[in-house]
Amino acid sequence: MHDIQYSLTSRQPGTHIFNVSLTIAKPDPSGQILSLPNWIPGSYMIRDFSRNIISLQARSGDRKLAVQKLDKSSWRCEPTSGPLVLDYEVYAWDLSVRAAHLDETHGYFNGTSVFLCAQGQEGKPHVVELVRPAHPAALAWRVATALPELDAARYGFGRYIAADYDELIDHPVEMADFTLASFEACGVPHDVVITGRHRADMKRLVADLKCVCETQIRFFGEPAPFDRYIFQIMVVGNGYGGLEHRASTSLLCSRDDLPGSGEPQGNPGERYKTFLGLASHEYFHSWNVKRIKPAEFLPYDLRSESHTTLLWAFEGFTSYYDDLMLVRAGLISVNAYLELLGQQITRHLRTPGRFRQSVADSSFDAWTKYYKQDENSPNRIVSYYIKGSLVALCLDLKLRQLSDDRVSLDDVMRLLWERFGKVQKGVAEDDIRLLAEELSGADLRDFFALMLNSTEELPLQQLLEAQGLRYVLRPADSQSDTGGKPGQEPRAPRAVLGAKWIAGDGGASLQFVFDGGAAQAAGMSAGDIVVAVDGLRANATNLEKLLAAFAVGEAVEIHAFRRDELMRFRVLLGAAPADTCALLVPEDEAVKRLLERWTGNKA
Ligand code: ZN
Repeated sequence: MHDIQYSLTSRQPGTHIFNVSLTIAKPDPSGQILSLPNWIPGSYMIRDFSRNIISLQARSGDRKLAVQKLDKSSWRCEPTSGPLVLDYEVYAWDLSVRAAHLDETHGYFNGTSVFLCAQGQEGKPHVVELVRPAHPAALAWRVATALPELDAARYGFGRYIAADYDELIDHPVEMADFTLASFEACGVPHDVVITGRHRADMKRLVADLKCVCETQIRFFGEPAPFDRYIFQIMVVGNGYGGLEHRASTSLLCSRDDLPGSGEPQGNPGERYKTFLGLASHEYFHSWNVKRIKPAEFLPYDLRSESHTTLLWAFEGFTSYYDDLMLVRAGLISVNAYLELLGQQITRHLRTPGRFRQSVADSSFDAWTKYYKQDENSPNRIVSYYIKGSLVALCLDLKLRQLSDDRVSLDDVMRLLWERFGKVQKGVAEDDIRLLAEELSGADLRDFFALMLNSTEELPLQQLLEAQGLRYVLRPADSQSDTGGKPGQEPRAPRAVLGAKWIAGDGGASLQFVFDGGAAQAAGMSAGDIVVAVDGLRANATNLEKLLAAFAVGEAVEIHAFRRDELMRFRVLLGAAPADTCALLVPEDEAVKRLLERWTGNKA
């Protein structure tokens, strides 16, 4: 008999309601307190999962107990000596990797959405009985979760057990008639579980994921820190997202992101490459953030915001290694990798907010800024994912430069794993710099301060060129030019508005108006719907072409609706800035040797 036992089912999956019972054998005699997390680790925003609890009753034997609500996400039960049972309903209709979703086709949940925490008893083993819903559609369902089985068969309904509450909520559960494929990576069993209609080439998917996993396990050193791993994939028409866990990841992707029978051999197509990058990213988190953690996350405080200035290391470094692991695994070419890097630099250079916010501040304020973006975000914030990955690139190149290529960021990561991850010691603000200094013998205080605490440009060009690579900047060819490639030959500068738009309400709806651009100077604003340029009808598709007919510096009349009122602007068009980056490899033996050591592949 275990002290904490949940039973979870759904009496009517079509209502999107999970029915949960929690039995606490030894409740707090002064009145057991229960609570639900307000956020889920890995996604730094207060989400108030408790708003989806739509009923809650407590009983002891046949006796109904009073329950007092203490705040938005905690309750206190009337004192009782006997076992305390809570019966509650959870509404589950959030198709993301962060919450819970249930209908007749599947049931998915994170423990943070469905498992009330018995305060004071978090450290005890937690048992969960998953009961097959009594609905004909659920007859074919199986269960995919990395929660250890207590008496359930693998992929079966039945009882599972977690060592404590922290573990309980770190193993999401998928229940469906899913596609299942398995492989071993360095001796560890891995499952690929896909829910949703798809025609993916499972052989290709499994072969490629196996390469990614083996490359990463060998990077940190065997054995892997888990004894099994699951890629839980939800396939939809249009979606993208991932969340890391200690022995699994939940991924949301579009049907077309998975490799079909037409997927080219060798280098993957754009969409599949993005999917592999996402899978690689979440897998890398198994070490970097699930085990190597900021000191502030040991333990997590799931009641309120938990601020750390280190997300540039946990999300940024992971974003650096996700694509790098694809090239090291031999799944993409060195040139394809350099193209991805050029695109990442391009994204950064198109963010005016990099001059307004440091990456350490971006980390700290993730809760209210990065996770709550609006029309002005590009002007005021910098992404700790993107800039963080470029900080990783700079640090990697700097360490190679200082040590004649004997030391790299790889060594820093492995030392983080040895000294922090393996022994569950939290990483403090300066620890990464101290490791880099220890490995290189150099004083890196100014270098780190510049990259992390200032809004100065990163020394990307200088460091890349010191290694012999060519760093080329040019104006974008069009709004859809994502960079990474040399682009067309130089010609007359292109006239631009200094704004980004999407189709909307009969015109081109301005999504972002960039600081210092022509649109801003003319008084245009995000949300304006451009309907005419120089008296000619404009829409999202032709706006770029209409503007291209003008010269840089020329004045043009633009009509736009704001709050349904027609407004007229006189815009002095600007020149497209040189914000589009490509990294080129000259014919040079030293550069080839660097690329071989860096990417593990011949250029
Ligand atoms: Zn991440």
